[in-house]
Amino acid sequence: MKVQLLPSTFDAQGVATLEQRLTCFVIDDCVAVDAGSIAIALNNEQRSKVRDIIVTHPHMDHVASLPIFIDDLYPSLKEPMRVYATQEVIGLLERDIFNWNLYPRFSDLTNDYGPVMEYIPIPIGESFRVAHLNVVAVPVNHIVPTVGLVVSDGQKSVAFSSDTAETEEFWKILNEMKDLDALLIEASFPDRLAKLAHVSRHFTPASLGQELKKLTHNGMDIMAVHLKPSYRREIIEQLNALNIPKLKAMEPGRVYEW
Ligand SMILES: [Zn+2]
Ligand SMILES: [Zn+2]
Repeated sequence: MKVQLLPSTFDAQGVATLEQRLTCFVIDDCVAVDAGSIAIALNNEQRSKVRDIIVTHPHMDHVASLPIFIDDLYPSLKEPMRVYATQEVIGLLERDIFNWNLYPRFSDLTNDYGPVMEYIPIPIGESFRVAHLNVVAVPVNHIVPTVGLVVSDGQKSVAFSSDTAETEEFWKILNEMKDLDALLIEASFPDRLAKLAHVSRHFTPASLGQELKKLTHNGMDIMAVHLKPSYRREIIEQLNALNIPKLKAMEPGRVYEW
């Protein structure tokens, strides 16, 4: 399985920067997990193939360019953009974004080929299909309804924590799995901002180090994501100091293969 964390910004030469401001992962060039930078950073092949987008929660850094992406492709979509989310999150997207004020309600609109956007409500704790992938969604501990995901292609499995603080169900599902190849877990703030991390329901390296003790699997790659750009270097130093084998910060733009 190929997983890429899309970059969110580019320097004056057009080279992607390492700072992650927006969240969007692309799996096998065709399925997106969150859509923060989806309209900004997909390559042409991905742009022509991504029609399935799983939204873990409606925070702006995870959906910022979703409306723009659908808008850009509006006349040429031969199938609807399928947006997978819990019913609760679909309600929030409809109320707060696709509400005819902030942006048009694309799920009510058609082009020459038919509907342009379709919501697919996802179950909790039960496997569902997205393109060639099997996905399980589990609630995590964030300040809005949010799910973590376990994504499998039949050979490899990768878990995405999304935004979360201390949680239980997610680890239970992971620990019950026979094989797990990679865990992409958030580490938003440095240790000195533990209070802010706590109120906004995010991890610091210290709280993440504690949390990873709940994971009984070992040996898989653990990629830290969602590092707030202003503290990236400091967070990475603190993650390294944890001395957890195979724990690294994921690099935006790079394609990882499991
Ligand atoms: Zn969030
Ligand atoms: Zn976020």
